[in-house]
Amino acid sequence: MIDARAIALVIVALSAGVCGGIGACGSTQSSESSSEEVDPVVVTDPAAERVEEPEPTLETAPGVETAPVVVADPVVGAEPVVAAEPVVEAETIEDTEPAPLVAIDTHSDTTQRLLDEHADLSTRLSDGHLDLPRMREGGLTAVFMSIWVDPRRFAGEAGWDRSRALVASVRAFVAAHPDDVVLATTAEEVRAAARSHRVAFLMGLEGAHGLGETEPSVMLDRLGELARDGVRYVTITWTNDNVFAHASSGAHPSRGLTDAGRLLVARMNELGVMVDVSHVSDRTALDAIEASRAPVFASHSGARAIGDHPRNIPDPILRRIGETHGAVCINYYAQFLDPAYGTARRAVEREHRAEFDALPRGRSWTTSAARNALARRLAPELHPPTLRTLGEHFAHVAAVAGPEVPCLGSDFDGVGELPRGMDDVSDLPALFRELERRHLEVRAIAGENVLRVMAATEATARELAPTPR
Ligand SMILES: [Zn+2]
Repeated sequence: MIDARAIALVIVALSAGVCGGIGACGSTQSSESSSEEVDPVVVTDPAAERVEEPEPTLETAPGVETAPVVVADPVVGAEPVVAAEPVVEAETIEDTEPAPLVAIDTHSDTTQRLLDEHADLSTRLSDGHLDLPRMREGGLTAVFMSIWVDPRRFAGEAGWDRSRALVASVRAFVAAHPDDVVLATTAEEVRAAARSHRVAFLMGLEGAHGLGETEPSVMLDRLGELARDGVRYVTITWTNDNVFAHASSGAHPSRGLTDAGRLLVARMNELGVMVDVSHVSDRTALDAIEASRAPVFASHSGARAIGDHPRNIPDPILRRIGETHGAVCINYYAQFLDPAYGTARRAVEREHRAEFDALPRGRSWTTSAARNALARRLAPELHPPTLRTLGEHFAHVAAVAGPEVPCLGSDFDGVGELPRGMDDVSDLPALFRELERRHLEVRAIAGENVLRVMAATEATARELAPTPR
């Protein structure tokens, strides 16, 4: 069935100019605020370290129904295949060429570098975790560029301008490098990019506070605007609570989705925007799984049974995500992979505050190498997590939720320290070797698991779309 609205939506998205509107490119100055995951405010508060398990357990919660299984089929906005013959031809062509490995990372904060530093990601940068040359080296074919608004810098309605500026910066970069990058908005476009040896950029909004702070109905309209510009997931919260939901590190981590949050999830389903439960409270995650007509996923979270941190996901929710055909993309941040290491590392920083404070200040991608080196020198007995620790998170998610659940959610350029053996995206093959060593399904983890959730979300949007007359 042709979804005229979705086709129009894609046409608008593809033809829309870049850097237009309120949040014009390069309109915002960079500041010294640090990366999003290095959040000592949250973790140094002992009261905030533990998140209460939600009272009704997954097994006992009434009315939790399995989301309908959605069979992936043609993508939202793709031209319907009309004639039978071309289909056969296309399949024949595809049969003769092995499908390239699709490797998709669902969370990179490199977007801030585009907007604030005008970083040229088409060249190899001397710092940070991700750019096109290093993506090619590591074999990463697609990446969700995070649209993340720091609420401490862009409070309230300023958040909306910032979101638009970040989106515009991604679109401008893609438009300026048509031979190297494409803006992908569907699973099929991600596959097509890999076939044409171009990198696919996608976008996800991290925290619905990026929709500003006004009437929820206006914020939902803004979500539609972002979706037209190519945004394909929304992390319901960042570390802060918002009008839609409660965060794992917010003021009320035992609370979940609000009534407005249920409307948000419904609108995301209609728009074909994936529901992301990273950062949210356990209760919000359960509520979102129940409310969503499409599978939910976590764009950058690990397994709490391996790393006991509120940002990681407990087994009952992992299971529930698996049962509803969602995905959990594993965060590579050293302090989430091994929270005990994180505690020890922060203690070193407190103990030697003057020495750390004397280091040049700036964003995490320019400062973290020096900070990590200083920590190693001051506390050589500290052992940061390794690729094996990271592999443990993948293995645990696969064991508890199923092999079709784990996926890649690095948090590149959003975190200050990666596991040993992974300096940046070019080291991705080392992670794949670790997964192979554990007999995990690399192809599924690298891309197929996320592509399935994308396709299911697109199918849900088509089902929910009004029937064209
Ligand atoms: Zn995050």
